Amino acid sequence: MNIDDINLAMKCAFKSSFNSEDPSTKVGAAIIKDNKILSVGYNRPPHNWEGEFIWNKDVSKGIENTKYPYVIHAEMDAIMNYKGKLGDLKDACMCVTLCPCENCAKLISTSGIKTVVYYSDRDAVEIRCAKRLLKNCGIKCISMGDIAACNYSFVREAVVETIEDKRLKLAK
Ligand SMILES: [Zn+2]
Repeated sequence: MNIDDINLAMKCAFKSSFNSEDPSTKVGAAIIKDNKILSVGYNRPPHNWEGEFIWNKDVSKGIENTKYPYVIHAEMDAIMNYKGKLGDLKDACMCVTLCPCENCAKLISTSGIKTVVYYSDRDAVEIRCAKRLLKNCGIKCISMGDIAACNYSFVREAVVETIEDKRLKLAK
């Protein structure tokens, strides 16, 4: 996996995250293999969810009244959005704007993806479990900040391109 591929996939992950309707946390993911983006995803309600989605994070009225049991994570969305053969994901790389949780890590390990690169990290039990799971499954899990030659230009490029895409859409 070369730095150009990772920069491209991370830019796509950021662009994808801007689609999320979650008012508090917008996460994007992109899968890349052989210089080609295979799929992108963002955190979202399940497909065919009827009515307004519950974006609430306050667990005081029970976890069932929060987004947590229902929301599709960006990594799950990216894997499910891939329309080719699942075997194609073997040895692919996933770039994600936030370190995966343990459930996404299970899905990633099953998919055949070999490398995960994340932008933001979080100190939480589900993240520690995810990192352990990925490591035990032989999947490299790397922080973008630990990659030499990472200049973070993908963040600015993602913002600029998204603004440009919106402008073009409005002009139509
Ligand atoms: Zn997750």
